[in-house]
Parts: sequence; C-alpha cells; structure tokens
Amino acid sequence: MSETVLITGLAAILVFTPLVLVLLDAGLPLRPPARTDAVTPRDPEEFEREIRRRLYGDPIPDHVSPVAMGVPTGGDRLRIAVIAPPWIPVPPPGYGGIEAVLDLLCAALVRRGHDVTLFAAPGSRSPATVITPLEETHPDEIERALYEADHVARAFALIEDGAPGERPYDVVHDHCGFTAVAMANRIRLPVVHTLHGPIDEPGVHSFYRHHGPNVAAVAISAAQAATAPDTLRVEGVIPNPIDVDAWPDGATKGDYLLWVGRMTAVKGPHRAIDVARRAGRRLILAGPVQPGQEEFFRTEVEPRLDARVRYIGEVGGRAKRELFARARALLMPIRWPEPFGMVMVEALAAGTPVLAFREGSAPEIVEHGETGFLVADEAEMAEAVELVGDIDPARCRAAARRFDAGEVAAAYERIYRRVCGMEAGRVETGPGAGDSAPAVAA
Ligand code: UDP
Repeated sequence: MSETVLITGLAAILVFTPLVLVLLDAGLPLRPPARTDAVTPRDPEEFEREIRRRLYGDPIPDHVSPVAMGVPTGGDRLRIAVIAPPWIPVPPPGYGGIEAVLDLLCAALVRRGHDVTLFAAPGSRSPATVITPLEETHPDEIERALYEADHVARAFALIEDGAPGERPYDVVHDHCGFTAVAMANRIRLPVVHTLHGPIDEPGVHSFYRHHGPNVAAVAISAAQAATAPDTLRVEGVIPNPIDVDAWPDGATKGDYLLWVGRMTAVKGPHRAIDVARRAGRRLILAGPVQPGQEEFFRTEVEPRLDARVRYIGEVGGRAKRELFARARALLMPIRWPEPFGMVMVEALAAGTPVLAFREGSAPEIVEHGETGFLVADEAEMAEAVELVGDIDPARCRAAARRFDAGEVAAAYERIYRRVCGMEAGRVETGPGAGDSAPAVAA
C-alpha cells in the first residue's frame, strides 16, 4: 500500500507542477476571487463552453462527454464542489458503492437548495451540474494513480479558477481517495473528505497520519472512526444514504440466500458457499470479478459452483433490486473491518434480513434478532439461516429509513457550514443500531 501511496504522490506532483506553471504562464489567478454574496446569474451555455474550453482545449474534440447544467446559485446557498472517483459513472450501472452514494447525496443537496457541481466519470448524470474532467471511464484501472491524479488536478484547477461571472466555491467535498487528500492543502478552500475505505491498514494509516490534517474527515461508521489516527480531524460520522422507496418491499420471498459484492476473500463469497452448503440452501452469488481477483475466483469460487450455488456475474438496476427483495437473507461473511457495507442497507431496504459476521460496521447496521443476526462464524451463520423466517420484512425496511438521504445531506451541510466558518459544534455519531431514530444527528 505504501508503494501505491508513493506512486500516487509522485504522479500527483508530476501532474500538479506543470499545471501550476501553465496557470502562471496563462496569467490565471491561483487564488479564487474574494468571496461575495452578490451573484451574477450565469449564462448556462457560455458557462458550459468555458468549462469545456478549459478542460479540452479549443476546438473541443468530438469524444468528450457533454457537461450537464445545474441551477444558478444565490442567497445563502452553499456552492459545493463534489469530487467523485474517475472510474465509474454516477449513478453506477452495476457495481459502485461510492457512485451510488453520490447519486443520492448530490440529489439531496440540490433539493436542499445548494448549488452543487459534481466532478465525475464520463457518462455521469445528476441534478447537480456535472463536469467530467477525463475523456473516458476506467472501471478496470481502479486506483491507478495516473488517472486519479489527472482527474483531481483538472477538477482542482476548475474549482479554484471558477468560470467568468461565477461565485467561488465555498467547500470541496472529496470522495476520490488519496490524491485529493494529499493535495488538499494546495487548494485555498476547505476540503471535506469522506473516508470510504478501511483506514487501519498500515500504509493507509500512516498516509492519513501524515496528510490527514489537510482535510476535515467524515467517517461512515463509528467502527471506522475509532481506527483513525489522532492527527486526522474526524468531524463526524455520517452513514451512507439510501432511498428506501426505490426498493421493492420484499414481502414475497424466494428460497435462495444471496451474496453480493467484490470477489475478494475479505467479502467472503467462498465462506457464503460454506454457509449455504451447511444450511442445505440455494445460494446466488452476484458481483464483478475485478482485475486482480481472477485467481481467487478461479480457485476458491468457480470450482464450487453447481445447480444450487450459482454465480450470475455483475447485476444492476431493477434486476438487482428484485434479487435483493426475493432473497431469504443476505449473507455477509466478512473478514475485514467493513467501513460501511452498502449491500447490508440495500438488503434491509428491500425487506431482506442480513446475516453478518460481527466485524467493522455490521453491528451498527444489523439489529441482532430484529433485522438479522450477528454471528461469529460459518456454523453460527448456517444456524441463523433457519431463524430468518421469523423476521418481518417491514421491520427491515423501517430500519433502513435511518439512512435516509435527506438526513445524510443535512448532516453533511452542517459540516460544510462548520468548515466554512459559518457554524460551530461537532456532528456527533448517531444512535446505535438498536435505535430507530435517524442514524445521523448534529
Ligand atoms: N453492486 C452492484 N452490482 C454487483 C455488485 C455490487 O450494483 O454486481 C453494488 C452494491 O449493490 C453496492 C455496491 O456495489 O451498492 C457495493 O458497495 P459495498 O459498500 O457493499 O462494498 P464495497 O464498496 O466495499 O465494494
């Protein structure tokens, strides 16, 4: 991991240094203009042309994605620059936890009246203004510093310069990973950074120890926050959002168990197979085999597939939602400090109980005996399979409402205002999983 960080750092320096020189050469200001509440309404077409000229040059090459427009800013609205990863569009057509979060969060922030710009992979759609710094998506090159540094550097340049007649941004909200955090002290705006991955791995921990002070961090579970180095300013714990009403109610069940995720040992598809065999139940496995996961899939999963244990590849859209809703239970035999685990909340939203190992965020999401069971190993999980029939799908669905997107957006708004110096206080961790109150509270 330290090698990745080093490569990321070097690539970022390579990208940012020429960028600064280009800006100086072009006589463009490196500081944003002074903040003013007076808002000049922008001409959407001129704004789009300007952005595209800056991104792609003039004439604009044919292959670039269009830039969608959001609403003009005004009043005490915040102007928020949200940076998504460059790999997969928002919303994601299939796999993509961060992209699913940003789909809901950006829409909820716009509904709250903010002016939101989403810097994301080509093909992204949102009620926010969408800017796609790169020319292509990179779903098979996730974490390649080359693309991440390029994406973040272009986004930072646009955020700092703004466009003619534009009010400057108030805050940057980064979801992209290491490059933006490492470079956050080079941009003259507060940067809120959501921690999407585990932070207690040795390389990652030392990265955040060193660069964490550049950002105001937000953890996505209390378990994750507890592992933060003391130099990292964790402003609050805000879980990922879900739109429960977009999911079927799960009242009609099939007879299969479900596992959904990346084909890695930490997520445990091979342990899910053990559980299904012990319980004598059918199992459906869904998820992509990402680059680097082929060997694990070929040796640990593929040889054990048969008529009762089926692998259906990556799923998305309505088929995915139905798959969740008809499952008898979702299996989460995780062996890692799961930072959040969107699939658990998705299962609950679809009225499906969750059987999870007691790791990471699982105890914050699953209410033992109410919306699923927290167990120690495969044997206990197989026993719990027989108990899920007593769990009410409506109870699961109600529990998922604690992760309502409106609540999540309101909690982020409090943090944005605080880092902008508009409000004091700390956003506290929400109540535990046994409570039906919203999972976020200020
Ligand atoms: N996902 C999907 N199709 C698949 C596998 C996964 O749409 O075939 C989605 C899943 O529904 C969830 C996300 O990808 O929204 C995975 O997020 P999670 O937090 O569970 O896992 P991680 O981010 O650790 O991979």
